[in-house]
Amino acid sequence: MGRLENKVVLITGGAGGIGRVAARRFIDEGATVMLVDLDEGELQSTIDELGSNVADYCVADVSNSEATANYVDRTVEKFGGIDIYLANAGIEGKVVALLDYDDETFDKVMAVNVRGVFLGIKAVFPEMQKRGGGSIVVTSSIAGVQGSGHMSAYVTSKHAVIGLMKSAALEGAPHNIRVNTVNPSPVETNMMRRIESGISPEHASTAYDGMRANIPLQHYAEPIDVANLMLFLASDESRFITGSVNMIDGGSTA
Ligand code: NAD
Repeated sequence: MGRLENKVVLITGGAGGIGRVAARRFIDEGATVMLVDLDEGELQSTIDELGSNVADYCVADVSNSEATANYVDRTVEKFGGIDIYLANAGIEGKVVALLDYDDETFDKVMAVNVRGVFLGIKAVFPEMQKRGGGSIVVTSSIAGVQGSGHMSAYVTSKHAVIGLMKSAALEGAPHNIRVNTVNPSPVETNMMRRIESGISPEHASTAYDGMRANIPLQHYAEPIDVANLMLFLASDESRFITGSVNMIDGGSTA
């Protein structure tokens, strides 16, 4: 018997590096998954890998409230309800000093990384109440608990979702809806490749080596490491954990 047998999981950023590995991991534990992302080509290839009998997708911008209502409705129509929600879609914005950071990019990062999570939680809560409870896992970051030069919008957004998670956890508790964050240090996905190029356009591999050397365990996380923590928080094994910030950072914040 899998750890997520008969559970319906909604994953935003489902075509990205962490989202698609989480989908595979969750399906292997018995879940069916709905993937939400902007990138239809990547969504389609992910579904081809996962199998259309256990997964489907919805193209949506998580920062848009109508699109959010639509992806939640589609999930309920297709799979009968929602038990687990991974609010995982995110963008890094720019790697640039605060004084040079443009307002439009700041607003965009906040719209996707914060408003998107807010809209998603609001939309899935009633569906989880109908099922007698659920688990929401928000992908924050190590940037949610400490600063990082030249990434002010991203750092702001990842701190903000911790506050949102805590408020939602308190409101969800009477309904048996648990809400937690996962907080990874760098993970081997395209997002980090873009950040490394942003730090050092000519020498991205030097930026990579520098960041790796700063992690006590001396390497980036793999997406599966984050997916395993998400799985634990999604499953009943973590039934007494809510409102918590879960670092997965190779010792970086120790
Ligand atoms: P990724 O870039 O591979 O995946 C992100 C996905 O989100 C992409 O598929 C993208 O198309 C999608 N997306 C972006 N904007 C969207 C929108 N408006 N609506 C719907 N989908 C949208 O990156 P990843 O590493 O898989 O990131 C997943 C999450 O993990 C993000 O929230 C990120 O901030 C967080 N995170 C990543 C790292 C890391 O080092 N990679 C570390 C800590 C936290």
